[in-house]
Amino acid sequence: MCTKYLNKNIIKIFLMTSLEKITHLAYQSKYDCIGDRSRVFDVDFSKLDTLSQGTKHDMCTSSLSARVANQNEVFEDEIRPVYYPPFTTTGCSVSLFKTLFTNYCTHDCKYCQNSTEYNGHKKIYSYTPEELAKITISLYKGKYIDGLFLSSGISSDENITTEKMIETIKILKERYNFAGYIHFKVLPGVSYEYIKQASEIADRLSINIETPSNNYLSELSSTKNYVKDILKRQNYIKKLELKKNLPSGQTTQLVVGACRESDFEIFKRVIKEYKEMMLKRVYYSAFNPLQGTPLEKTSEQPMWREHRLYQLDWLYRIYNFSEKEVKIAFNEEGFLNNKDPKLQIALKTFDSGIDPNEASYDELIRIPGIGPKSAYRIINFRKRNNIFKREQLLNLGVKIKNATPFLKINGAEYIKIDKWIECKSQ
Ligand code: SF4
Repeated sequence: MCTKYLNKNIIKIFLMTSLEKITHLAYQSKYDCIGDRSRVFDVDFSKLDTLSQGTKHDMCTSSLSARVANQNEVFEDEIRPVYYPPFTTTGCSVSLFKTLFTNYCTHDCKYCQNSTEYNGHKKIYSYTPEELAKITISLYKGKYIDGLFLSSGISSDENITTEKMIETIKILKERYNFAGYIHFKVLPGVSYEYIKQASEIADRLSINIETPSNNYLSELSSTKNYVKDILKRQNYIKKLELKKNLPSGQTTQLVVGACRESDFEIFKRVIKEYKEMMLKRVYYSAFNPLQGTPLEKTSEQPMWREHRLYQLDWLYRIYNFSEKEVKIAFNEEGFLNNKDPKLQIALKTFDSGIDPNEASYDELIRIPGIGPKSAYRIINFRKRNNIFKREQLLNLGVKIKNATPFLKINGAEYIKIDKWIECKSQ
């Protein structure tokens, strides 16, 4: 593609949202990279657009997930506002081309526009493995993406669709020497043999559990079985991961609030997922009713509900908060408030301030405003110095405004916790 044409279009592209952007780039990339002009291939823009948009609600990362992990504490994750930035095992973010293989589906999930009920009312698109491999390699060689996130509806049979998805990856790797990252969606009910093959060519596998239990899933779909189609496949992936087949492990996603499930029910399942399925991450997607689906009149869930679940997830997974501690964050009805759960837990567990000169790492990271990085800095700093004023902590990256009520420095507490709560509530 000539530079002039590219520059003109770059301006347009920056004005677009992420998915539109990747679709546009993919469309343009049909002229790029994979060889000479004689190998230019046809790309149907509507197909690209529809199949990319079809993955919009498959978060596998939230644009908010890292930042909201704790707004007061800087995390190692830095979200790049591009197509789909998951994190590799080394903590680097990568930009992926997210797409469905087909938007036809034999399942009837009530929240999904790919549902079988709409097969007659929507234009059905499918890639061929060759076609999708060409688009992906063009984007990859053009340095627009670092990898591929491949999901799909189910055309006729989950094994047949998976076979085509696997073929796409094989073409990419074997014919085009693709060396990028691959997140491969395992389709509900697919056989072990196909999951095994996928684990040999993908970096990460995931299958969405969507709800915290079978009862809730049956409200959303009459065709998917929670235990047989989903949990059993997660177990297969776990076994393959144990055999070291899968560098970036397994993840899953829940739709938050499509049923009447409480946050506590969600989190109880999440803990099970981390413990029993050895998941690397759980992603949350606040329910957003889509036009034309049976749930179109169901209330949209506030984004803060998703944010607070991400924050609690970080406390459990990164800060090693115990199950007993995270339970403190829920109200009597089992929901989180729109308040920082770490602060909520601290308010109910701290009786008095903690001396940062003496506190262990575990005690430090339980103080609001102190994250893993600042806790390590405090521990290193105090090997040579005594902490005798709050400004020293500020220089170590502590959010001092949040931490102050929970600190005792030089034997003194600047403000008692109960006094601080009183001031805040006025
Ligand atoms: S299985 Fe996936 S693509 Fe098919 S209807 Fe359900 S959520 Fe949509």
